[in-house]
Amino acid sequence: MSESSEQLSLLKRQAYLVALPVTLLMVLLTLALNIRRMPDSFNQVALPLLAATLLGLSAALYLRLVPLRWIEHGFYLIAAVSFLAKLGSLVLGFPLGTPDAQTAQVYIWAPFIYLLSSLIYTVRYALQRSLVVYGLSLAVGLYAVVSGGFQSLGNFARLVEFYLASGLWVAMLYILGTLKTHLAHMTTRLGEMERMAHRDALTGVGNRRHMEVRLTQQLEQFQRYGMVWAVILLDIDDFKRVNDLHGHELGDYVLQQVAQLLQYELRDTDHLARWGGEEFLIVAPQTDLFHAQALAERIRSLIGQSPFDEVGSITASFGVAAYRDGESILTLMQRADEALYRAKHAGKNRVEVAWLATDALLLPELYNPFPVQTPGLDPELCQEVSDWLQVSGLGPQDAHSRYAFAASFMGLAAALHPHASRVALRLTADWYSLMFLHDDRCDSSGVGKDPVRLQGLTERLLSIFQGSSPRPGDEPLAQALGDLRGRLLSYGGARWFRELNERVRDYLDSMLWEASNRASGTVPELEIYLLQRPITAGLKVDAAFIEVMDGVQLSTAVRDHPAVQRLAELADRAVCWSNDVLSLEKELQEGDMHNLFRC
Ligand code: GH3
Ligand code: MG
Ligand code: MG
Repeated sequence: MSESSEQLSLLKRQAYLVALPVTLLMVLLTLALNIRRMPDSFNQVALPLLAATLLGLSAALYLRLVPLRWIEHGFYLIAAVSFLAKLGSLVLGFPLGTPDAQTAQVYIWAPFIYLLSSLIYTVRYALQRSLVVYGLSLAVGLYAVVSGGFQSLGNFARLVEFYLASGLWVAMLYILGTLKTHLAHMTTRLGEMERMAHRDALTGVGNRRHMEVRLTQQLEQFQRYGMVWAVILLDIDDFKRVNDLHGHELGDYVLQQVAQLLQYELRDTDHLARWGGEEFLIVAPQTDLFHAQALAERIRSLIGQSPFDEVGSITASFGVAAYRDGESILTLMQRADEALYRAKHAGKNRVEVAWLATDALLLPELYNPFPVQTPGLDPELCQEVSDWLQVSGLGPQDAHSRYAFAASFMGLAAALHPHASRVALRLTADWYSLMFLHDDRCDSSGVGKDPVRLQGLTERLLSIFQGSSPRPGDEPLAQALGDLRGRLLSYGGARWFRELNERVRDYLDSMLWEASNRASGTVPELEIYLLQRPITAGLKVDAAFIEVMDGVQLSTAVRDHPAVQRLAELADRAVCWSNDVLSLEKELQEGDMHNLFRC
C-alpha cells in the first residue's frame, strides 16, 4: 500500500470512529422519542435492529476485527436498506402520524444515502450503487401509484419532486466525482512534468535548471545563515574519443554510470546535476574549500579506478570553488570553470582549486618584469609542518593524511607566493635599494637619497601591507590582500594559524640566512644585507630578496648564479609568510577565532 493510501485509510478510520457512534446515538434518541410520543410500528422494529447493527460495526471497527472496507460496505448497506425499508413501510401500510411528517422524514435522508456512496466508492461504483437505490425507491413509488397507495407517500406532486431531486443528486455527485478524478489525475501529471523538467532524461540526476534553482537557494541560505559552501565542476576527459571508439550509445551508458557513481559517493545533502554534455556539477553545502577539494580528489580517484563496461577506464578533471561573500553565482561558476580549464591544461585527471589571489596576477598593475618561480611543494617543508602538527596534537591522526593535509596547506602558500612577491617587487624595490645598498648604482628609481620621497614610499608600502586605506592605483593590491586574508581566515583558527605561521617562518628564515651567507661568499660582486629590525621577519627577508632580484644593477651572471637563484627562491617563499600574513595575524589575534580547524 502506498504511503498516501495508507494515510487515507487512517483518516477514514478516524472519521468512522466518530460517525458510527454518533449515528448510533441518533438512532437511540429517535427510538426513545418514538416510544414516548408516537409509537411507530416500523420504527419499533427497525430502529432496534439498526442500533444493534451500528453497535456491532462500531465494535468491529474499534477492535479492528474486520478490514475497514467491510465496515464501509456494512455502513452503506444498512443506511441504504433503512432508507428503502422506511420508504416501503409507508407504502406497505404502517402510515401513522400525518402523511406529510412521515414523507418528510424519508425524503430528507435521500441525499445522505447518495453522498455516502460517493464518499465510500469510486465514481463508477458509487454511480452503480446510487442507481440501484434510486431504481428500488422508484419501484416503491410506482408500486404505490399502481396500488393507489401513494396517498401515504404524500401527494403525487411531492412524490414526483422527490424523484426529480434524487435523480439530480445522483447526477450531480457523478459529475463532481468525475471532475475530482480528472483534477487529481491532472495534478499528478503536473507533478510528474515538473519533476521531469528538473531531471536529466539520460542520467536521471538533476539537470541544469534544477541546479540553477539549488544554487540560488544556497546563496540565500548563505545570506541568511552565513554557512560556507562550495561547487565542484567536473568534466570527463577525452569523452569525444569514447564516443568515436565505442559509439554514442556506449558513451551514453558511461554518462549514466558516472552519474550513478557520483550519486553513490555524495552525501544526501549534496546536490548533483548534469551541467552540460559530459560535465557534472556538485553543490556541497556546509563545505569549505579544503573539504571540497578533498571530496573532488576522492571522486577523481574513484572514477579513475572504476571499470566502465567495454570502455575500460576513464578519467575526469575537476574545478573547485568555494562561495565568497558578496560574489554572484555567475562569478562563482566562472571561477570553478577557470579552475577546470586549468586542470585540463595541466594534463587532465586532476583537481584544480579556484584561489582568488591568482586572479590578481592577471592585473596589469602587478606585471612583473622579473620572472618569479613558483616554489611548488617542498617535501622537506611539508614534512616539517606535518611533524609539527603531530607534536601539537593537531590535524589528522595518521601520518599519511597528516602529510597530505600539510601539503595542501603548503599549496595555499604556493598560491599566495607569486602574488606576495609581486607586491614586494612593485612597491619595495626603490625603498630597499635606497636604504640598504651602499652605492648609488642601485637607485633604480631615481629617487636618490631624497628622505621625503623615501618616507612617502615607506608609508605607502606599510599602508598597503597593513590593509589601511590604499592610494589611488593601489586598490587592486589592497583588494587582493583582503581576499588573501579572507581565505586564510576561512582556513583555520587563530591559534593554529599563528603557530603554523611562526613555525614556517622560522624555518624559512634559517634557510634564508644560510643561503644568503653562501651567496655572499660565492658571488663577490654581491653584498647581502639583512634588515635586523624587530618590526617583522617579513621585512627582513624582503630586503634580501630585493637586493638579489634587483636585476637592474646585477649582471646576468650574478642573477643566474645558482646560489642567488636559491636565495631568491627562498626569499620569495618567505615573503608569502611575512608581509601578507602579518596583518592577518593581527586580525586573528583581535578576532580570537579559536581552534576552528581542530580535527
Ligand atoms: P576534454 O578532455 O578536453 O574534455 O575532451 P572531450 O573530448 O571530453 O571534450 P569535448 O568538449 O571536445 O567533447 C565533448 C564530447 O562529449 C563531445 C560530445 O559528442 C560528447 N557528448 C556530449 N553530450 C553527450 C551525450 O549526451 N552522450 C554522448 N554519448 N556524448 C556526449
Ligand atoms: Mg570532456
Ligand atoms: Mg566538456
